[in-house]
Amino acid sequence: MNHFAAVREKLNDHGLDAMLLTCAANRYYVSGFASTGTDGVAFVTRDQAYYFTDFRYIEAAKAQVRDAVVEMTKSGRGYVALLNEAIGKHGVKRVGYEDAYMTVAEYNIYREKLNCELVPATGLMTQLRMVKDAEELQTLISAQRIAEKALEEICNDIRAGVSEKEIAAKLTYLMLRYGAQNMSFDPIVVSGANGSMPHGVPGDRKIAPGDFVTMDFGCIYRGYCSDMTRTVAVGHVTEEMDRVYHTVLRAQLAGIERAKAGVSGCDIDAAARDIITKAGYGEYFGHSFGHGVGVEIHEAPNASPNHKEALPAGAVISAEPGIYLPGKFGVRIEDVIVLRENGCEDITEAPKKLLIL
Ligand code: ZN
Ligand code: ZN
Repeated sequence: MNHFAAVREKLNDHGLDAMLLTCAANRYYVSGFASTGTDGVAFVTRDQAYYFTDFRYIEAAKAQVRDAVVEMTKSGRGYVALLNEAIGKHGVKRVGYEDAYMTVAEYNIYREKLNCELVPATGLMTQLRMVKDAEELQTLISAQRIAEKALEEICNDIRAGVSEKEIAAKLTYLMLRYGAQNMSFDPIVVSGANGSMPHGVPGDRKIAPGDFVTMDFGCIYRGYCSDMTRTVAVGHVTEEMDRVYHTVLRAQLAGIERAKAGVSGCDIDAAARDIITKAGYGEYFGHSFGHGVGVEIHEAPNASPNHKEALPAGAVISAEPGIYLPGKFGVRIEDVIVLRENGCEDITEAPKKLLIL
């Protein structure tokens, strides 16, 4: 899968002759070539795409990159030289670059040495990546299934006496075992009072009877991320835990119900937030309802109170409200949904009924 043609089609709209892609996420998106390193540059002109890399990656790049000229840097003929050759050959004048990703140091080198005008154009890539095509959706669903398989199995290990770290380590192992190439992010496993920290780090705390355990995790499969959160109870729950869990679940379902193409991110967020606020927990839901998921674990668009723009069909976002009570516990439930014209499709299949292990 590559998106050279998709980028080329957008050049005119942005008044560009070419697009320079240097950050790992955009290089992967455009070329379909996943390198582990920081080396490599993709360059898309109106009539030819290029992928430049160094000796360490050239064999893999030549095997994997389609629809582009793949060339290797050499001593005295680095990225700047290769880019200037392409710029000269295709009469390129205005080149878009990723102002949201490129370091100031890189920018200064390119600005000084490339024979073209550099134009900030992160937006071109953001707009493209926000709308997933059929192949991307299929890959996102596959990544999601791997995480769900790991969840199903990890539930056998969640019991009093097991530490948060042990659960996190096993989740990582299971996702790799079931086909993940890597984690989308370090798994979050928090239990008991630690659960009130939405992005707490798994520690040596041992799970105790009466705890909620919140697990937020995801994997990368063929370059695309999954993301999900489930909160399970161990032994028993108090009346308050039960009430908070079901408030979060109702909020999540209300947000999902509201989510469709053409609706703004803030309206989706508000549908969920209203339920939590009405239940008296408004101040304990301090993050937004959701974020885009794709090549990066957090990408556009957001379903947050300040995202006023309408979301497009084909956008993939998380649906993850939570309630966090300091000193007591926290609950978050997270699915990933695809926005359609008439509603949305929840690609997360794991059950959300309160599970007491
Ligand atoms: Zn998550
Ligand atoms: Zn998330």
